[in-house]
Amino acid sequence: MSVPRIVIVGAGFAGYGTARRLERTLRPGEAAISLVAPFGYTLYQPLLPEVASGTLDPRSIAGPLHRLLHRTRIVPGTAAGVDLRERTVAVNMISGERTTLRYDRLVLCPGSVTRTFDIPGLKEHGHGMKNLAEAVYLRDHVIAQLELAAATHDPEERAARMGFIVVGGGYSGVETTANLQLLTYKALKRFPRLDPAMLSWTLLDVAPKLLPELGERLGDVAMRTLRRRGVDVRLGVSIERLGPHSARLTDGRTLPCRTLIWTAGVKPSPVVSTLDAPTQKGRLVVGADLRLAGFPEVIALGDAAAVPDLAKGGGAICPPTAQHATRQAKVAAANVAAALRGRQPRLYRHRDLGMVVDLGGAQAVARPVGVSLTGPVAQAVTRAYHLSTVPGYRAKARVLGNWSLHAAAGDDLIRLGFLDTRTGAAVDLDHTVATPA
Ligand SMILES: Cc1cc2nc3c(=O)[nH]c(=O)nc-3n(C[C@H](O)[C@H](O)[C@H](O)COP(=O)(O)OP(=O)(O)OC[C@H]3O[C@@H](n4cnc5c(N)ncnc54)[C@H](O)[C@@H]3O)c2cc1C
Repeated sequence: MSVPRIVIVGAGFAGYGTARRLERTLRPGEAAISLVAPFGYTLYQPLLPEVASGTLDPRSIAGPLHRLLHRTRIVPGTAAGVDLRERTVAVNMISGERTTLRYDRLVLCPGSVTRTFDIPGLKEHGHGMKNLAEAVYLRDHVIAQLELAAATHDPEERAARMGFIVVGGGYSGVETTANLQLLTYKALKRFPRLDPAMLSWTLLDVAPKLLPELGERLGDVAMRTLRRRGVDVRLGVSIERLGPHSARLTDGRTLPCRTLIWTAGVKPSPVVSTLDAPTQKGRLVVGADLRLAGFPEVIALGDAAAVPDLAKGGGAICPPTAQHATRQAKVAAANVAAALRGRQPRLYRHRDLGMVVDLGGAQAVARPVGVSLTGPVAQAVTRAYHLSTVPGYRAKARVLGNWSLHAAAGDDLIRLGFLDTRTGAAVDLDHTVATPA
């Protein structure tokens, strides 16, 4: 009898977590596990803003798949399409070749990509903050703007190069603004030709509050902290048009700017749309047992799936967070094993444990298990949380080492320049855009 084939698509919180659990749960020889992953690492996205700001080295938030997984065949490529009836996944290998994987059980966890809207100029000039290339690129780009602003004699060019805009007042946008603004503010000491009064950071959101997921009080604390540092936080406002040197806002103002970072929302990875299956807000509709209706051999989870939030009830679906993806992975692995052993699947139920938001330096806001924390206490909790959840003890050691070194020695502001040939736009640095099967 042939061994059942389990194919997992995506190696983020959900996919890597499922593979690791399956390795522990299944007996050797009980099934063959394959993991389709475009990179050789699982990425700890919540610390991307710290990579962009230079507090952390990129490798410290990348868990090495070949070291962390022992019985899983890693297929280096991107899933281009899924045929639910034929039970196959078409994969674009990193070599450029195409291969087809057959499965008996499919676990879909391709996560999400930056969602942009039809705003003129956004696709060409907007930067994302969703993957390692974008974080590394942004750091270089921001440092380059200061170098170029210091070199030019043109006051208009200097103003545009010192103008930075972030769109999105969720945790990703707030952390990105806080960390990068601190980077530029501290960097000004090395650029005596630049007038600090010209440095301009603007954070926009169409919503009336920052960080709605943390409640009104902590959102206000985050806003006051940013404003105290000189960030212009504008709520109820977005971008109307983006050019190479300026951005026009929906409140009618035009700001000089050469850097716009778009963090206002995510949508599922494009491979999801190749399945002929119902979606909700683009996410695959699954039951609380994570199975796809009509295809019980297919499980979907994480940002790519609309998993019912049983703890909330009322038809709510789980928000796209690492917290849910990690916990759903345990249920996914248990249900794949249960199916192989002829047992009943479990249902996913998890009560949200709160959120931590790093505001750079010694500042943060956090609400672990419903307790509101601010300032250095919140920062200590935030860092302890990240240290406990970064995958692998080597990554934990790197993160701790990087934090200590950065606190003691500061930032060297080294611009690497190896992504200079890319435009750096979100569409250019998104590696998950698969060519159709
Ligand atoms: C800046 C930032 C800060 C965040 N902070 C927090 C936080 O503090 N707390 C929190 O809970 N959440 C946070 N999140 C959200 C969290 O990171 C996501 O919800 C989580 O990563 C979702 O896990 P996932 O496994 O579904 O997707 P991902 O972690 O995105 O993993 C999906 C993987 O699949 C790969 N992939 C995509 N398409 C394909 C394909 N076609 N074939 C093969 N592989 C594919 C991707 O490259 C990726 O490696 C943050 C996100 C960002 C960007």
